Amino acid sequence: MKELHSFAWYAARISPKLPKKAFKPVPGRLWGGLAYLLIVIAGFLTIGLFSLNPFIYLAIAIVLGTSFAAMGFLGHEILHGTVVRKPWLRDLLGAIAFWPLSTGPRLWRKWHNLTHHVHTQKEDHDPDSWPTLERLSKTKILSWIYRLPQGFRAFVSFCSLTVMFSLHSAKMFTAYIKEFNPKHQPSVWMQFILPWVFWISLLFIMGPFKWFFAFLLPLFIANAIVMGYISTNHRLNPITEVNDPLANSLTVTVPKWVDVLHFNFSYHTEHHLFPGMSSKYYPLVKEHIKSMWPERYHEMPIGKALVALWKTPRIYYEGNKLIDPRQGHVYETLGHGLDISNITFNKLDKEDTLVRIIKKSKAKIGKVVKEE
Ligand SMILES: [Zn+2]
Ligand SMILES: [Zn+2]
Repeated sequence: MKELHSFAWYAARISPKLPKKAFKPVPGRLWGGLAYLLIVIAGFLTIGLFSLNPFIYLAIAIVLGTSFAAMGFLGHEILHGTVVRKPWLRDLLGAIAFWPLSTGPRLWRKWHNLTHHVHTQKEDHDPDSWPTLERLSKTKILSWIYRLPQGFRAFVSFCSLTVMFSLHSAKMFTAYIKEFNPKHQPSVWMQFILPWVFWISLLFIMGPFKWFFAFLLPLFIANAIVMGYISTNHRLNPITEVNDPLANSLTVTVPKWVDVLHFNFSYHTEHHLFPGMSSKYYPLVKEHIKSMWPERYHEMPIGKALVALWKTPRIYYEGNKLIDPRQGHVYETLGHGLDISNITFNKLDKEDTLVRIIKKSKAKIGKVVKEE
């Protein structure tokens, strides 16, 4: 078993090899943001002002959806402070970039910067991590979902990617609002409500048919694109005691033009090493990681990562395995034997499964297995 290291450990070893400019904000990223904003405004005006063939609306909706997603990727970067440093400007630009996804900058920084980045893949602390078998037993909906056959479950969970970012964002609001200093709570509320006031006003201005193509369908598309990346960020990796990005994160590869359109969002391991660095420099960071720790680094084409997600369950078992509790099928994770070109599982002996699981978390999860 390889010794785990914190992200700071890796960063300290790579930093001296990077040029000084890599640690400076890159305001030039805003030109891309401006381009997307103009496309979105043009799309709204075209749909709002002209009566066109629905297929043209559909084409515009696809452009809007991809623009919403790309703005979200830029918003992520802006709110890490890698584009501008002034806090008020960072939050204002972040709010605009996240407007289509209706996520407020204060909430995002708490949920993502202060929690996900600090506690990556720690089941009780990372708001984005998937549950372990122990936690599954306490979640009614999840344990119900895991009684469904694997193929059907994968289908439903892939469909849910079209709404998952928006739902998770709303869940994060309810989870974190009370943790904000009471002085800041009104602004967190405002940042949550204002985008929705805007989008619902647009519904009344445009009418439901046009609104579907201007907002709702693009929102589904944006959710799918954003979640297509996010779901591959950590979910094939193990849960780790130490927040080691080389062990608990995955970088996916996409065609170069997609990286340009998506502000290098595919470089997730690099991002966890240097969250305060502009993603413009992540290809350089990647070169260093691959020359220094090639055996620890995980990367794969995004398509393969999604296929691997389809074929594996999302419940962690003993930290570095994934289990389908319905059948007792146990899969490996990245770095622990998961071979994405040949995904296999071990079938746990039913008695053995029961004994091992019940030992950890008593009756309920046992029921899930027994009822099969
Ligand atoms: Zn992450
Ligand atoms: Zn981040």
